[in-house]
Amino acid sequence: MKYIDEYRDHRIAHALAAEIGQRVTRQWVLMEICGGQTHTIMRYGLDELLPPGLELVHGPGCPVCVTPLETIDKAVDLASRPEVILVSYGDMLRVPGSSSDLFRVKAQGGDVRVIYSPLEAVKIARANPDRKVVFLAIGFETTAPANAMTAWQAKREGLTNFSIIVSHVLVPPAIRALMVSPQNRVQGFIAPGHVCTVMGCGEYESLVRDFQVPIVVGGFEPVDFLEAVLLLVKQLESGEARLENQYVRSVNYLGNLSAQAVVKEVFEEADQKWRGLGVIPRSGLRLREAYAAHDACRVFGLSDIHVDEPAGCSSAEILQGLRKPSDCAAFGMRRTPENPLGAPMVSSEGACAAYYRYRRHAVAS
Ligand code: SF4
Repeated sequence: MKYIDEYRDHRIAHALAAEIGQRVTRQWVLMEICGGQTHTIMRYGLDELLPPGLELVHGPGCPVCVTPLETIDKAVDLASRPEVILVSYGDMLRVPGSSSDLFRVKAQGGDVRVIYSPLEAVKIARANPDRKVVFLAIGFETTAPANAMTAWQAKREGLTNFSIIVSHVLVPPAIRALMVSPQNRVQGFIAPGHVCTVMGCGEYESLVRDFQVPIVVGGFEPVDFLEAVLLLVKQLESGEARLENQYVRSVNYLGNLSAQAVVKEVFEEADQKWRGLGVIPRSGLRLREAYAAHDACRVFGLSDIHVDEPAGCSSAEILQGLRKPSDCAAFGMRRTPENPLGAPMVSSEGACAAYYRYRRHAVAS
């Protein structure tokens, strides 16, 4: 299959790994931002192909993992109300809130529905004029255009029974927050190719300049990932810090301007709480005033709440690249995808779920 098979070719992958091995002369710490890339590493054992001097740490690029506990609690609250139909993506149903999750609410009779495309949420609102449909819309820049389209479409149709709980996050402010942290260990980043497909890669240039840190936009197949690592290693070993684009078959400098226009029409930047990382300035999206009628928090008068993270979950350190999932005392013993404590074990893009799925032998030994 074109654009898949050649990027999974083990001979090319091994050749890239060998070149990386020849070039690495000292210890480097690299972070892949995206959870999809973490799963690629684990699924294909890419970290085991790399030289011992190269450490891969996993970043905060799983949207389910960084959705604040408060957002889950608000969704659980609304889903428990008889007049509400709560719709979201499948992964969100199992994320534990502080006292319940959406699956439990559904089991207790709440009308919670899984959707596969955001516009299905609008369709459900159209079909149920006597109910209030709330869409729990989460994600990075990649899903922001499609989620924005739901509010745009609902406004256009005058659907007064449709609203959104928005928890959208942006990658560049998160990289900035990681870099200014006194605990930071990361010396080079692999930026997420799907985010950059929408936003372009140009916005990463200021990070490279401000922190003198190399950033390579990378794809999601094994050869993509190893090529991105090689580009980073070449820069680090020669003392350079540049923005490079490995994922040229999908990413350009400016991105998808039409998609960006929809996002700008509906959302505006705002300070955002990230689970595990705290509040990062201007790192999220909220609905503009013109879309206030579709803002679930306003429609239902939900006030701001604060909830403490569960004790015993190391997800904050994992999302900052300070620890690995297998360092967590609960990993694989008490905590599995069927019985999660933190979001990284729930999400199909979560680092803990990736380690659990592909490295169970490490748990058993
Ligand atoms: S294994 Fe579970 S408890 Fe441990 S860090 Fe991951 S999500 Fe948290």
